[in-house]
Amino acid sequence: MLLTITYQGEHTQELGYLLYKHPDKIQTFELSYGKAHVFYPEVSEQKTMAALLLDLNAIELARGKAGSKEGGLFDYVNDRPYVSSSFMSNALTRVFGTAMSGRCDERPELAEKKLHLTACISALYDGGNPSLAEECFAPLGYEVHTERNLLDPMFPEWGESPYINLTISGEVRLSDLLNHLYVLIPAFDRQKHYYVSEDEIDKLLSHSESWLADHPAKEKIIHRYFYQRKSYAHKAIDRLLETEPLSVTESEESEPTEQKKSLNQQRLEAVKQAVLESGASSVIDLGCGECRLTSMLLDEKQIQKVTACDVSVRELEKAMQRLHYDRMPAYRKQKLTLMQASLTYKDHRFSGYDCACVIEVIEHLEPLRIPAFERILFEFAAPRTVILTTPNREYNCNYEFLPAEQLRHEDHRFEWTRNEFQTWTDHICNAFGYTCELQEIGEIDPQYGAPTQMGVFTKCG
Ligand code: SAH
Repeated sequence: MLLTITYQGEHTQELGYLLYKHPDKIQTFELSYGKAHVFYPEVSEQKTMAALLLDLNAIELARGKAGSKEGGLFDYVNDRPYVSSSFMSNALTRVFGTAMSGRCDERPELAEKKLHLTACISALYDGGNPSLAEECFAPLGYEVHTERNLLDPMFPEWGESPYINLTISGEVRLSDLLNHLYVLIPAFDRQKHYYVSEDEIDKLLSHSESWLADHPAKEKIIHRYFYQRKSYAHKAIDRLLETEPLSVTESEESEPTEQKKSLNQQRLEAVKQAVLESGASSVIDLGCGECRLTSMLLDEKQIQKVTACDVSVRELEKAMQRLHYDRMPAYRKQKLTLMQASLTYKDHRFSGYDCACVIEVIEHLEPLRIPAFERILFEFAAPRTVILTTPNREYNCNYEFLPAEQLRHEDHRFEWTRNEFQTWTDHICNAFGYTCELQEIGEIDPQYGAPTQMGVFTKCG
């Protein structure tokens, strides 16, 4: 299956920055059920096309090895390896997850901008329904074009194929286009390649919160997405029509569904506990993302002041939504400061707090920038307490859907083993005069430890 995304305009090579994929390279990603290749068939000033080619391993699927627990969901002869389906959506989050979240450190203004984009998707199953593509995509502002072939040109009497090649084009932000595809491709195809659990509701809503509620075909789309799971479809519709903020972030998506929420929750609880035990009354949440931790800290009486900062304006915007910033009660609002800042540039605004939290952030920093980050945090800002969490790479083999040696998220520059983390914390203590207590968070694997590791640093003297 092939998905192409074409950007037309000026300096269109910058699509490479937006997708975090270099236009001169062919990149291959191992998925548990095959491979995804990313390459650029066309690169020029006015027109650049990126392609995602999904190469599913039909035999693996049939044997039920990867991603299927019950000895195979699939027969040997079926359309699965050749049709755009939930496999494609899964590949999109794995390969273009950062672009999908709307983040682009190199060209943040371009990520925010509506661009002239065209997406072509091959072999989309519409069951011969001639209006489905139009119903799904036209209300989102796309021009829709479909192409349908005969099932077999040798036997015209067999009629037309139930698969289409779809082209949509419009003025749209890249992240919106990717999220539209993520939700709508599986709404065409009615089979899912994995067991659909209730967590899917969070995933669906997190990719559609800004657009699905106003979509005239929202109920149809959700029912098709949750085909054979009517109760989930109803819950999703109910939640979509509430305006509550949603709870799955890009960074969590590669963690397995069963543990995803609880691990995140356990991590935040453990951090909050450590903040309170440190006696802090002022905290800075560095790399705050959507401000989940900040939100919990604002609820605590002991905490008088919380500053949340992130390099990504988009994350800060999401945070404001999640925190209901515009209708926040005054007593809560006056405790809070939101600011954009990078942890790899010295910044006097990081100083003056009792405690700094750096939760699941260090693994996003370029290894070359870590020494700068160390000095900025432990030498210049130098709070009494620093609480830092990061994944434990050893635990990754417990993630069924994560191929060996792959990190939990495409934006992670590294993940440390327990030993590597301890070596780093020892170095911090020696270099900057701190002591550190290590703690494991999440279910502990007897051999590989827990999924998250936390260091609580306290300044000596
Ligand atoms: N702490 C949050 C978010 C973790 S995701 C949580 O636990 O939910 C990592 C976050 O780090 C992202 O929001 C990303 O934008 C931010 N980040 C990455 N590099 C950064 C940098 N150099 N400076 C500040 N924030 C950064």
